[in-house]
Amino acid sequence: MFKACGMLLFIAVTAGAYAQTPAFTRQDTLRGSITEERAWWDLAYYHLDVNVNPGDSTIRGTNTIQYKVLEPGRLMQVDLQPPMRIDKVVQNGKELAFRRDGNAYFIQISEDQKKGQVNKLDVFFGGKPVVSENPPWSGGLTWKKDAQGNPFVANSNQGDGASLWWPCKDHMYDEPDSMLISVTVPKHLMDVSNGKLRGVEERNDSTKTFHWFVSNPINNYGVNISIGDFAHFSETYQGEKGELELDYYVLKENLDKAKAQFKDAPRMLQAFEHWFGPYPFYEDGFKLIEVPYLGMEHQSAVTYGNGYQNGYRGRDLSGTGWGLKFDFIIIHESGHEWFANNITYKDIADMWIHESFTNYSEGLFVDYHYGKEAGNAYVIGTRQGIKNDKPIIGQYEVNYRGSGDMYPKGGNMLHTLRQVVNNDEKWRGILRGLNRDFYHQTVTTQQIESYLSKHTGRDLSAFFDQYLRDTRIPKLEYQFAGNKLRYRWGNSVAGFHMPVKVSVNGKEKWLEPTTNWQELKGYKGKNALQVDPNFYVEAADVSLVP
Ligand SMILES: [Zn+2]
Repeated sequence: MFKACGMLLFIAVTAGAYAQTPAFTRQDTLRGSITEERAWWDLAYYHLDVNVNPGDSTIRGTNTIQYKVLEPGRLMQVDLQPPMRIDKVVQNGKELAFRRDGNAYFIQISEDQKKGQVNKLDVFFGGKPVVSENPPWSGGLTWKKDAQGNPFVANSNQGDGASLWWPCKDHMYDEPDSMLISVTVPKHLMDVSNGKLRGVEERNDSTKTFHWFVSNPINNYGVNISIGDFAHFSETYQGEKGELELDYYVLKENLDKAKAQFKDAPRMLQAFEHWFGPYPFYEDGFKLIEVPYLGMEHQSAVTYGNGYQNGYRGRDLSGTGWGLKFDFIIIHESGHEWFANNITYKDIADMWIHESFTNYSEGLFVDYHYGKEAGNAYVIGTRQGIKNDKPIIGQYEVNYRGSGDMYPKGGNMLHTLRQVVNNDEKWRGILRGLNRDFYHQTVTTQQIESYLSKHTGRDLSAFFDQYLRDTRIPKLEYQFAGNKLRYRWGNSVAGFHMPVKVSVNGKEKWLEPTTNWQELKGYKGKNALQVDPNFYVEAADVSLVP
């Protein structure tokens, strides 16, 4: 009877899971896996040189791809999504043959590729890229106008891929060591991309070209063009690694508002350099750029569209009031400089590495500026957004992310881990250590999980299985029976164990529950137990259950 019930439940849950997961195609595999045609070459450098024409919403140009040969290969996969198309590929003055398979192009390399060689090719492309229907959540270009009727253009393409508008190795595991982004726009406009402005080239026609150089590895969804009739202001921040240039580009009509609102940028740096270590891209400066959508963590060029107001579009996602003390987009998107741009997932299934830590960074910002109790309240408040609908980790090798719980639930998981560590300086050392030891790297969840196990001195494998790969919230089941307190973790994965701070009859106490019942003596009469609310767990007095 019990077994049959279990089986029914299993079928129902499985059917539900399938209903939520799309059927994956060959295109998903080409996009999401390290194919043979990607694996043999390592990105060294991109020079993306594009002409952006707001008049007809087209982009045309070349991407020069410099790569190191890891293993001799002859077929190279470069991605570009229709309706954009590759017209020509040239290597050493010779045109190369290629064939298209959906969003992937397979280029036939004609010369021998010797191991260790650094080679390059030029990819000529153009077209009218997809217009984002709901930026930044759906990928594409956004073509808007400012109040004066000037073009106001930006891209956002996390998930859907940078290959929506430029040809690249559209997989996150590999990043170029540096990149030059040259953007030609109508003369009265400006382009702001990643890195530092190396120069502006006046052309004989009605355009000019902005050359932006990124001197650090950059992930492909972070590559950014932001075009408008911008006003510019700047300041210098004295940070952990010395002087950091902060540059701000906003629509002229918003200059005064921006000068007030962007005071959150140095406040962000104070808090995050304290918790996470030096800003990871001093050489490239830090920029905030106004765009016609909410915002995105483009590396060293964070885009901003939060309406010059605190909160998330004026709302407090924590419901505590603390979320209105700062501009959500400045803090959250900039937090990604450490977790997304410095430490980058190899596979979007592990997007929690970006979003859980960055969601958590909001609470640490509040903690730094308003105190630990405020930070705690903020993190706990964000639980109202948790759905526990499906696991946080998505599916590997098909470009498929997990539940949106990677934000508030992931943040609360890390907050819970801080309680387990129970030593704030040690915890801060671990957060800084992650950014030091995985500096400018792409990583897997296993690397991050192992690092946290090693440096907390605890085997956290069941902890991560519980919070990242399951939807159940562990429940501290307890009962006072006779003179004993009995307790265990229920509603959990096999082998789940985690210390938890409780108060019994008003006295603080640490328990080390596992999934097996344990007991403590000395509890006669009437007793009360409460779990420290900083732990994201449930608790139930099961005394009354027969
Ligand atoms: Zn984010």
